[in-house]
Amino acid sequence: MTADPTHFVEFDLPGAGRPGIVGRAWTRVPAPLSAAERAEAASRIGTLLARENAVLVAHYYVDADIQELAEATGGCVGDSLEMARFGRDHPAGTLVVAGVRFMGDTAKILSPGKRVLMPDLAASCSLDLGCPAPDFAAWCDAHPDRTVVVYANTSAAVKARADWVVTSSIALDLIADLHARGEKILWAPDRHLGHYVQQQTGADMLLWQGACLVHDEFKGAELALMRAQYPDARVLAHPESPSPVLAQADVIGSTTQLIEAARTLDMRRLIVATDQGILHKMRQRAPGKHFLAAPTAGDSATCKSCALCPWMAMNGLAGVAHVLEHGINEIELDPALARRAKAPIDRMLDFAQARKRPVRASGDLARDGALFQRVGPA
Ligand code: SF4
Repeated sequence: MTADPTHFVEFDLPGAGRPGIVGRAWTRVPAPLSAAERAEAASRIGTLLARENAVLVAHYYVDADIQELAEATGGCVGDSLEMARFGRDHPAGTLVVAGVRFMGDTAKILSPGKRVLMPDLAASCSLDLGCPAPDFAAWCDAHPDRTVVVYANTSAAVKARADWVVTSSIALDLIADLHARGEKILWAPDRHLGHYVQQQTGADMLLWQGACLVHDEFKGAELALMRAQYPDARVLAHPESPSPVLAQADVIGSTTQLIEAARTLDMRRLIVATDQGILHKMRQRAPGKHFLAAPTAGDSATCKSCALCPWMAMNGLAGVAHVLEHGINEIELDPALARRAKAPIDRMLDFAQARKRPVRASGDLARDGALFQRVGPA
């Protein structure tokens, strides 16, 4: 394979509680393929998946061709937790994870006996990069009286230091429960999701000051202008978005919850504040509806992502075929670290199971009333 061009990306590199410092990371986005090349790659991947006893597990934000191929070959398209659980429960011996590195790591943590491959192991995440394990451990050491809760978008080493791992779909419930038990919380790494959860639950939370490069760019003032232009539209927002955006949202939820809301809401026009990769699945599930990407560039027009994750974009069909063909880019984790990282994930899954709280929506808003009960107008 020829080398893909490298781009540099700036992101918040926060320390605990101190204002963001700009970090610099890189990404390489595969060159687009022609229609004939895409068809050839998809066919080759299908053959290789069967040959390698492998299954393709993809995130909603990756290339639409990969999402379609995952579903066509018996794999899965989902959020990070669904991806990990699907991989754990599937009989295939090899998981090909199309997403970013923490998703591959989480798949390996939940499936230590399986081979986990990724199209590009360097596909990172500004939340993960912005929460280095040594700094995070020092912050935890400084607050030994607090329960440590981390978002799934973290490294295995950060998870291993936590009491709980949460996804955006279970965060409100878990923090409300810990708060009711009188526990004080250390939260990392996303400051916007942490602030939202803190507001909704009233919990005593100290927040790490990380942010998602994509969601941090949504602009409240420009969103208000768009809503004025389209008064019939409803706003769907991921809680990694800043509070001026969440304050205008009709539905706040995880990727899976937003897709289901897109399908079930009556309104024909929807403004979406999350990575634009999700629009592929929304258009499939809600044909005939009109989707608008929430505005990212303000007056200064300095958007870093334009609602497309630079690391999710590292996943391409050619990369999937290449790793299957050559058995490269395998996730390797220290087994002892993986065991420590698994404990807080299992704790979250047990919590969800005990509460009979789905970590994903069923697609029926009536049935999912409990799931959405605090995921409404902000
Ligand atoms: S969209 Fe944001 S949270 Fe998701 S992988 Fe990219 S930078 Fe990380």
